[in-house]
Amino acid sequence: GFISSEDPEESKQPRAPVVAVMGHVDHGKTSLLDALRSTDVAAGEAGGITQHIGAYQVQLKSGDKITFLDTPGHAAFSAMRSRGAQATDIVILVVAADDGVMPQTIEAINHAKASGVPIIVAVNKVDKPDANPDKVLQQLLQYEIVVEQMGGEVQAIPVSALKKQGLEELAEAITLQSEILELKANPDRSAEGVVIESQVDKGRGPVATVLVKRGTLSRGQIVVAGSQWGKVRALVNERGQQMKDAGPSLPAEILGLDGAPEPGELFAVVESESRARELVDYRQRQRRDKSSGMSSGGASLEQMMAKLKDNEVQELALVVKADVQGSAEAISSSLEKLGNEEVRARVIHAAPGGVSESDVLLAKTSGSPIFAFNVRANKQARELAEAEGVEIRYYSVIYDVLDDVKNTMEGLLAPEKRETFIGYAEVLEVFNISKLGKVAGCRVTEGVVRRGSGVRLLRNDTVIHEGQLSTLKRFKDEVSEVRAGTECGMGFENYHDIQVGDKIECFTVEEFKRTL
Ligand code: GDP
Repeated sequence: GFISSEDPEESKQPRAPVVAVMGHVDHGKTSLLDALRSTDVAAGEAGGITQHIGAYQVQLKSGDKITFLDTPGHAAFSAMRSRGAQATDIVILVVAADDGVMPQTIEAINHAKASGVPIIVAVNKVDKPDANPDKVLQQLLQYEIVVEQMGGEVQAIPVSALKKQGLEELAEAITLQSEILELKANPDRSAEGVVIESQVDKGRGPVATVLVKRGTLSRGQIVVAGSQWGKVRALVNERGQQMKDAGPSLPAEILGLDGAPEPGELFAVVESESRARELVDYRQRQRRDKSSGMSSGGASLEQMMAKLKDNEVQELALVVKADVQGSAEAISSSLEKLGNEEVRARVIHAAPGGVSESDVLLAKTSGSPIFAFNVRANKQARELAEAEGVEIRYYSVIYDVLDDVKNTMEGLLAPEKRETFIGYAEVLEVFNISKLGKVAGCRVTEGVVRRGSGVRLLRNDTVIHEGQLSTLKRFKDEVSEVRAGTECGMGFENYHDIQVGDKIECFTVEEFKRTL
């Protein structure tokens, strides 16, 4: 099945952590990823030249495994986050010991914090004569990262990617953090996961690197990835070796898709080619229909895929600044009570004082507006906000803040759709008409059918197509509606598999704005 819910706890087994490496440019992200890859004990025996596939897994001497996203920088992380497909369990924050905390270090901290992913600090380049690891730890305090060395809980490991020092300690820190997180997934189900990267290869065709989140992906299975689908012709690891299957947290290149899906898109195994076609069709149609106002009552691929998200709740990230600590606290706690099971507000930062540049940067990385209660932004912050497109909203009445956020949240709620059946028809004959494709000669058996309304085609009481009634004819004329007892011709947009005996149901859909 495609509509997958949470797996029962007893079906889950421990899985490897998925780790992203982030930090300021030139602080050694790429070097560290390369160095960590060389610690893989399984690599030695296997040999082979490693190639970049966007992610790799290493096996430690202890037997523990770690999956690294081999995409330094924040782009991949953001791409996944913006699609709600957070695949990262742990962030390694690389800070060069000679350079210290820099703007992209702060950005990485904010990214990790906003998505609730724990951080491990790798203080890199400790081999350099001007390295000052203690200063780095001191600087991090400013960003509420209190490392163990200073009585906090964040692990900080001195490393040298160049000299390959501290790598084992870093791996141990990851293993420890991963034990705390109790990462688990059910390997015995059809696979679901996320696309890490993709390209169209000259020789091999579309190639997508995917990370399995749960279940096991096998060669020969049919997958839908974003709006692409295909039969998995081959599964390949980063050493270019063919794999039979890939379980939770294991990255693999898949060959056989009909196109390259976007990074951050979700994938899932489906039971048949026709199901895959149907889902991909459905998705494309929904994209088109968005503007025409036609929508369907059934679950869309997006809705089904949405079930794969770690976090099914839509979160509205907010930054709150207020005149005094008391009002900052009051506002944030009221805001966090506003949501329901579908949408909620998450205050990522609430503090007294004017709006500063660092507030603006934080708001930018989490895509949130700033709510300023009885305080103002200074000139630099205003300019930065303007340049970065961050919205600052000013208030002097707490009620207005709450009202405003409530309205925004209601806008995020999917509208309630109510379907009304208006008529039924059955297919008596099928005609091939050159310009229109297949047209069904039908008799309306109940109610009324209208051109432009929603239709479902039923065969043996099973829905085989859902779409829009694009053609409705009485003899040679295009008409807008036909009533029960009358014969007519019906055509469906982009759908031609019609057979005599199929039943057709017609419906209209009304959308209602929902409130909290
Ligand atoms: P990135 O931009 O964060 O991916 O950084 P790179 O991995 O490309 O490293 C930037 C520069 O720092 C390169 O010249 C590396 O050789 C150097 N570098 C990386 N790690 C170390 C280290 O541990 N010690 C020293 N001395 N240099 C390093």
